[in-house]
Amino acid sequence: MASNSNKRFHQRVVIVTGAGAGMGYTAALAFAKEGASVIVNDLAEAPAERAAKAIRQMGATETTFIGDVSRAPDIQRMIESTLSQYGRIDAIFNNAGILRSTRVEGISLEEWELVMRVNSTGVFLCSQAVLPAMKKQRYGRIVNMSSSAGRSVSTLGGAHYTASKAAVLGITRAIAKEMAPFGITANAICPGLIDTEMARKNCTPEQLKKYEEAFPAKRLGTPEEVAALVLFLASEEAGYITGASIDINGGDLMI
Ligand code: NAD
Repeated sequence: MASNSNKRFHQRVVIVTGAGAGMGYTAALAFAKEGASVIVNDLAEAPAERAAKAIRQMGATETTFIGDVSRAPDIQRMIESTLSQYGRIDAIFNNAGILRSTRVEGISLEEWELVMRVNSTGVFLCSQAVLPAMKKQRYGRIVNMSSSAGRSVSTLGGAHYTASKAAVLGITRAIAKEMAPFGITANAICPGLIDTEMARKNCTPEQLKKYEEAFPAKRLGTPEEVAALVLFLASEEAGYITGASIDINGGDLMI
């Protein structure tokens, strides 16, 4: 077993938003396993506590922060408390997101704004909030959750979901360009259909089976496969990758 100082995220402080379930949960545990102190954010207390408990059980350090990524005051408090506790922020995985499937003609303004606020504004607010600390350190890694939806069009989500994930790609490129001189990278990941609560809640088992058969890889992706990509982009090794939109979809979308 690697000694603590050999771990990839030894003495690194990493924030994971939406860490209570799905890909956020799996990535948060993977960061902890690799030695990071993890800030576990989620909107809901019970799932966040489940992730926090799993991290503590592996002997790693975590801090739980219940808050909404689309609310600037929540994010400011999360960043301030992280800096007062740990003194630095090395990486953030802006993962929190919601899916709505309403077809374009039925989307109310309220639902449009909700999806855009959580999926796009949330990524903007959280990224913006970590920049002062990362600039001071002259080091930082920002990994933003987009989707195949952002590169093409969503399988399950509506126009708001597709638009919100496309916006993440633009935000990521702009941050990457402005922040490269400070040793800060920003990249977006674009998963296809991944086996999480979100996918299972929005599809019948029969639908999921049909999708699987249509994918070249003949299966859904796993949160563990996504976490491996996130950890690489958040690591020191990935210092020359920035502004990229990286597909992870079993060959479902090749562009
Ligand atoms: P999930 O629903 O299983 O988990 C999402 C977590 O985010 C939940 O714990 C939820 O409470 C939290 N969350 C929601 N809104 C929040 C907010 N405003 N502030 C803080 N936390 C909030 O979802 P998942 O499938 O793991 O998806 C994670 C991300 O990946 C989302 O951004 C989603 O759009 C994206 N994505 C999912 C898939 C897929 O197939 N599952 C594919 C591509 C992209």
